[in-house]
Amino acid sequence: MQPNTDTNAPQSVIKFGGITYRHGSNKQFEYFCHLDSYAVLWQVSRDLREIENVQWSASVHHLEREGLDLILMQGENLPELFEQLSEFIKLSHWCRQKVYPISADKPHITIKSVECTTLELKVRCQGCGECETVRVEAADYLLFLKAAAPVHETFPRATLSQRKLLSRGDCSSCWRAIFEEASTRERKRIKTLAG
Ligand SMILES: [Zn+2]
Repeated sequence: MQPNTDTNAPQSVIKFGGITYRHGSNKQFEYFCHLDSYAVLWQVSRDLREIENVQWSASVHHLEREGLDLILMQGENLPELFEQLSEFIKLSHWCRQKVYPISADKPHITIKSVECTTLELKVRCQGCGECETVRVEAADYLLFLKAAAPVHETFPRATLSQRKLLSRGDCSSCWRAIFEEASTRERKRIKTLAG
């Protein structure tokens, strides 16, 4: 089945489960479609070339990657298909959304690439903005996100400075600067008290 992207056809809009669908038709299909921000087209459609056809199909099409089409469900009960497709769409949005901490304008850790079960992380120092690449296992990273274990147990193969960068967001030189500043302040305080 081909996705329908004919914008010249007359269209109306309906809403199901919080998802907006545009209704339209072309020579082959009558369709209700929802295009999301990832260039993925979700639609409920029926083939108009088969006059007797009362069967609708709910399908998903990746417009940026040709040939990535999937029929998810078929049936005659149109409201039921809409209801289930809307749940699929919301679930896929949830899986793909990025959540950034409110306090930081740039994320501390971003995933650069995925190779089998290994993640390559780009970790940004919140002090100087320098970035370092750290490779970790995806399952270990999940533990880290859940704060389920101390960081040295979570990433046994990472270096000490990588662990600090991951957990505290400071690179080794920034961490040293903070430490030296604190100890200078402490020495001054002791000197003042003694004097
Ligand atoms: Zn730094």
